[in-house]
Amino acid sequence: MKTILTGLLLVVLTSCSHQPLKSQATAHSNDQFDFPIIDAHAHFHSKELNNYNQPASQILMEYQDAGVSGAVVHLSESENFKVEVNRSGKIKWKTCMGIHPGDLVEKVEKGIRAGRFQCIKIYLGYVPKWATDSFYRPFYRLAERYKLPVVFHTGDTYDKNAKVKYADPLQIDEVAVEYPGVNFVIAHLGNPWFQSAAEVIYKNDNVFADVSALLLGDVSEETPENLEELVIKPIKWIYAYVNNPKKFMFGSDWPLVKVKPYLELMKLTIPEKDWKGFFGGNAQRVFRFEEKNN
Ligand SMILES: [Zn+2]
Repeated sequence: MKTILTGLLLVVLTSCSHQPLKSQATAHSNDQFDFPIIDAHAHFHSKELNNYNQPASQILMEYQDAGVSGAVVHLSESENFKVEVNRSGKIKWKTCMGIHPGDLVEKVEKGIRAGRFQCIKIYLGYVPKWATDSFYRPFYRLAERYKLPVVFHTGDTYDKNAKVKYADPLQIDEVAVEYPGVNFVIAHLGNPWFQSAAEVIYKNDNVFADVSALLLGDVSEETPENLEELVIKPIKWIYAYVNNPKKFMFGSDWPLVKVKPYLELMKLTIPEKDWKGFFGGNAQRVFRFEEKNN
């Protein structure tokens, strides 16, 4: 995964090099939003940038360009206890502890109490275990106790060594039923298992979704056909099926996805009457942005 991620990062960073011209023209096009925009799915990519003091300038530039003022960042194994997040800047950060085999509940709890983590991320598929695996259960109980949302990677893995059957969103139904006191988030809408994801989101009051990374890179460079078939149509269908605007959150998956063009694409996908919730309000509620970190 790491080589692929690094390669993709290079693409993103390369595309950033001619960003100023483009962003000057569009820098203020989000000014029509009179509410905060939250990116409900991003990564710091500290190891690849060799910078564990976050936020780094790369992510700040993207967020300034897109008008983002809050973000949920999923930490990797190497970042969990190493990254230091400066939380005093303009952007509000919620950081999710990435759970990996060998992690101890006691250590994670300490991190929660120390204010390092405000959510939990489980990398289904990258880690070949089901969401119902006994290894994860103590972490759900921890999430319940501290009222932390649990985010699952679901759907395609950007890693040939991952085992993708473990990333099927249908299994989230089982943990959603067994842990009704925990809010769960299906990342990437289960791409491409949209129907399974839709049913689980629809059926369970405690299941939400982020729309991140249905396509990678700069989506403004994609063909209209790809955008329509691979992003707009599936999201519109799930949105209609679930029939509850409070369930969906904007997310990019930076640095795999350039934030501003993805946000613009979502404006074409989500009904304007729901923008306030979709681009910020829902994430604000699910990830409890109103509350101060511990
Ligand atoms: Zn991600």
